[in-house]
Amino acid sequence: MSENRIVLRKGRARPLWFGHPWVYANAVASVDGKPAAGDVVSLADHDGRFIGRGFYNPRSQIPLRLCTRADEAVDAAFIRRRIARARAARVRLGLPAGDTNVYRLCNSEGDDLPGLVVDIYADTAVAHITTLGIAQRKTEIYDALEAELGVRTIFEIAPPAYADLEGFPGGSRVARGASITSVPVVENGIRLEVEPLSGQKTGMFIDQRETRARVGGLARGARVLDCYAYAGGFGLAAARGGAAAVTAVDSSARAVARIEAHAAANAATITAVEADAFRYLETATPRSFDLVVVDPPKFARARKDLEAARKGYERLNALAMQAVVPGGILVTCSCSQNVDAETFERIVAAGAKQAGREVRIFEHRGPAADHMLPPGFSEGQYLKVLLCYVA
Ligand code: SAH
Repeated sequence: MSENRIVLRKGRARPLWFGHPWVYANAVASVDGKPAAGDVVSLADHDGRFIGRGFYNPRSQIPLRLCTRADEAVDAAFIRRRIARARAARVRLGLPAGDTNVYRLCNSEGDDLPGLVVDIYADTAVAHITTLGIAQRKTEIYDALEAELGVRTIFEIAPPAYADLEGFPGGSRVARGASITSVPVVENGIRLEVEPLSGQKTGMFIDQRETRARVGGLARGARVLDCYAYAGGFGLAAARGGAAAVTAVDSSARAVARIEAHAAANAATITAVEADAFRYLETATPRSFDLVVVDPPKFARARKDLEAARKGYERLNALAMQAVVPGGILVTCSCSQNVDAETFERIVAAGAKQAGREVRIFEHRGPAADHMLPPGFSEGQYLKVLLCYVA
């Protein structure tokens, strides 16, 4: 009985030996045996040396995603160990904390469960599923979440785009426990109401948690503008940090309503404006804010969008800089994986030139610590945040 196995082409094993978790279709020399989509198969280099095991899906451009480097079975006990290890890592990072009960428990490849993100909101969990291998093991995953964390409700989100690509049913639902629609949480002492099944991502942009706290620390006495505010995260952090005034802009009416509710729940004063951020910045009084945050959605969805995205980011940054007083701060973000860190810096430089302002970067940031990844896995790196002093 020989095991189903993928053998790599000569010269293609190096990144995988060094911790990269993905096998691209063009790196595969042969598929030994008859694995079915979703099965666990082993991976060998061209000389037949065992590298690890992972989830197989011949429909994908990434037919194998590794979940272990050890010669071990990938079964219910394995999943339980992975969830326990993910939890231990978060505990080591201080999560949850006294004033924060929302965090990422499992970050897909970063926790050796490729295709599974689990975000914790108080005593509930949201499982975000993007691969067939994970979709086929939901029962084991939910059992492990209940056993390791004692969560009360498990929400499940399987975005149709991934589900169609990988070949499993998409959709969102309460998978286990009480059928609730919203969960009260606290982040850095700020009270928020999360709606996992009707919000974006898993309900919150947890990746910006540490940067929201940082902005809070820079906000004392400042007139703050939070563009692309969603539920108001940056603006609320600024208000808590002692901002003199906070304006939050989002094009979604739903977002504006949530910002207003969150401001009330935290006894904060925030002017929430329903507007396109570009339009708002074009008509804003120049040099009237001490601290401006721009955290837009992905401009570059695919490589072909890159040029349009570059122009969009450049214009947005120029407009945002114009709104900053001389001697103020711009916090600028990009969550486009296709725009790398170096490109984003060049875009900010071009924006400064367009705005006729001088900027100095004083801090480079990325996602919060609970979004850990294997080294060299650039496919998983998406969020870049630059803190700039605008002269
Ligand atoms: N800063 C937020 C996350 C922002 S997500 C946080 O810390 O939680 C991006 C937000 O941009 C979404 O709420 C979306 O409604 C909003 N958005 C998308 N296009 C927009 C536009 N053209 N103008 C203003 N807001 C926009």
